[in-house]
Amino acid sequence: MSRLLKPLIAPDVFDFWASRFNPTWSWERPLARVIERRQEARDSVTLVLQPNRHFTGFKPGQHINVTAEIDGVRVTRSYSPTGIPRADRRIALTVKRIDGGRMSTQLCDHTQVGDVLELSPAFGEMTWPQAADGRWLLLAAGSGITPLMSLTRAWAAASMPTELTLIYWARTAADLCFADELRALAAREPRFHLQLVLTRETASLDDVACTEHGAHLTTEWLQQQVPGLEQSRVYACGPASFVDDARQIAGSRAEQFHAEAFTLPAVTDDIHGTVRVELRATGRTLELPAGQPLLSALEAQGIRPAHGCRMGICNTCACGKFAGTTQDLNTGERHSEPTAALRICISRACSDLTLDL
Ligand SMILES: Cc1cc2nc3c(=O)[nH]c(=O)nc-3n(C[C@H](O)[C@H](O)[C@H](O)COP(=O)(O)OP(=O)(O)OC[C@H]3O[C@@H](n4cnc5c(N)ncnc54)[C@H](O)[C@@H]3O)c2cc1C
Repeated sequence: MSRLLKPLIAPDVFDFWASRFNPTWSWERPLARVIERRQEARDSVTLVLQPNRHFTGFKPGQHINVTAEIDGVRVTRSYSPTGIPRADRRIALTVKRIDGGRMSTQLCDHTQVGDVLELSPAFGEMTWPQAADGRWLLLAAGSGITPLMSLTRAWAAASMPTELTLIYWARTAADLCFADELRALAAREPRFHLQLVLTRETASLDDVACTEHGAHLTTEWLQQQVPGLEQSRVYACGPASFVDDARQIAGSRAEQFHAEAFTLPAVTDDIHGTVRVELRATGRTLELPAGQPLLSALEAQGIRPAHGCRMGICNTCACGKFAGTTQDLNTGERHSEPTAALRICISRACSDLTLDL
């Protein structure tokens, strides 16, 4: 049907009229209606979404870019489904409110049942392998629990095919998401080991089962908690500083390590001045402050490059670089050779650049 109509109707014209009948009808855009919202923890809200047929699903541990219109401007951020794929295709996103955050405040405080959000295809590599074997360790901090909760639920649904340890840091008990469900799973499933760690609360240890207080991630502490660390495969998720610590401590010791950060690493101010950036596809040349992530520096000049997660995971912003030196903010490495896929959200300019934008 859509192939027959395509020459006759522009997709955005179709979307305009179709949305008058049903707000999730669209020619090709994945849209989803909010059908439920519930408080998950003090600052976290779960939104259950019913996507239209253009959403192609997700694997546990993946993420989705969500776009909402806030004060007339389209804002995109990434969120990680916390459930497992379902026959009715519903997805649950748990969003932690960030002070002053545009999207998280919108989703936690203003988004209501019936509202429509735009989704991207799912992305991310932190998924279960085809064959379940080995011993797994999941390290989550703050909202980093979301993709790891999906992985845990998937393993629970498969009757815990391997040993699985989840260590989850939150500031206080009121900030913990899914705590009752996780404790119940740990109580009934001998292959699932749970450690909830509260970093800013000193309530009695007996108050909350499986809970420790104040323990930060150190080599000694982790080796005590996870006796088979050297034989474990590790996924870590949370703010950049946590992921960095996890990489340093577990990365060299564990059998395999993969991490996805929800924030950018702190940008060091060792690159100063401005650089000339030629945008060859649009024929513009700009003076940009060196040292800033290219995506935000371009946005500050009114350029709107395609982007998604802003953390170097989804690759939506990847564009060609014909010339110049850039630095990857995640690894600190500098690259001078041309590339077809420069991720401008996590790259900064170290010299004049020519980009395919
Ligand atoms: C792959 C991926 C998956 C994600 N999944 C989830 C998820 O399931 N649930 C969830 O709640 N969030 C998730 N995030 C984070 C989310 O995308 C947003 O970054 C977050 O909601 C803040 O957006 P904002 O528009 O409210 O804040 P912004 O307006 O973008 O930023 C406001 C301020 O908050 C800081 N900030 C931004 N994000 C965070 C953060 N996560 N922690 C602490 N400070 C921050 C910024 O540096 C800035 O100073 C994910 C991020 C990525 C990259």
